[in-house]
This record gives sequence, structure tokens and C-alpha cells, in this order.
Amino acid sequence: MAAGLTLVDAEAGMKAAVATKPLQGCPVHELRSKLRRAGLRPTRQRVALGWLLFGRGDRHVTAEKLYEEAGKARANISLATVYNTLHQFTEAGLLREIAVDGGKARFDTNVANHHHFLIEETGVLMDIPAANVDLSQLTAAPEGLEIARVEVLVRLRRKS
Ligand SMILES: [Zn+2]
Repeated sequence: MAAGLTLVDAEAGMKAAVATKPLQGCPVHELRSKLRRAGLRPTRQRVALGWLLFGRGDRHVTAEKLYEEAGKARANISLATVYNTLHQFTEAGLLREIAVDGGKARFDTNVANHHHFLIEETGVLMDIPAANVDLSQLTAAPEGLEIARVEVLVRLRRKS
């Protein structure tokens, strides 16, 4: 009896594990679904650029860099379309635009709350997890306003 119970428990456990595991479907199909869920029609350009953006982990890209990658991938997409698509993705919540003064806009595929290191010499951005920045002493917003989001940019330079 005890053995039977164990077997049932194991089976239930396995079913639970399978249920919580993300679907291992076709990545392009998943990308199309991601676009649709964000309210965007999965056009050829959006799928091609989405593939370059979301296909290999979190990244911070400029429109120019993405345009260059699209060219290498023979996607045949104009720079204007790359700009438009990046802004559409940002408005749909799939990307976050990072403001770096004096530089080109960067688009972050990590839309969760986090902060950045900026290597001033190269313009490279690196993520800082939200938990690594203590904002508990942050000043309150002025009367009638609330803080929507706080993004810390920590500028780095080479030690002299
Ligand atoms: Zn980031």
C-alpha cells in the first residue's frame, strides 16, 4: 500500500513538473505569439527584428547596431523601419529605452526593474540587479506627483 501511494505521488509530481515547464515549441512560433500578446501584428520585419533582439538573452542595442545585424542576416530592412519597430516594441512593453545623454538611444530587452553600469569610454551598458541598489532613502515625490520608475546609471571609468 505504501509503495502504491509513493508511485501515485511520484506521478503527480511529474505531472506538476511537466505543467510548470515552459513549452518547448518552435521559437519563431513563440516569437509570433509574444508579438500578438503585446498587441502587435507579427509582420515579417517585426519577426526578423524580434528574432535578433530576443533570440539570445538580454541585450542593450542601438538602432544602428540592430540595422547592421539585420543586414548581415539578409533581412533587408531599412534603418527607418528598424527605428519604427524599436519604438513600437518599446510602446508595447517588449523593450525599454535607456536614456544615455550625448549618446544614441539604447533599447534594453530586459524590461524588469534594474539599473545600469555605463562604461564611459566604450558606451557599453551592463545590468545591475534592482536588489543591488538601495532606494529606501529616496526622497518623496513632490506634492501631487508619484515616482513612476527609478533608473540608476552608474558611470565607470578606468582607474588612473
Ligand atoms: Zn539592462
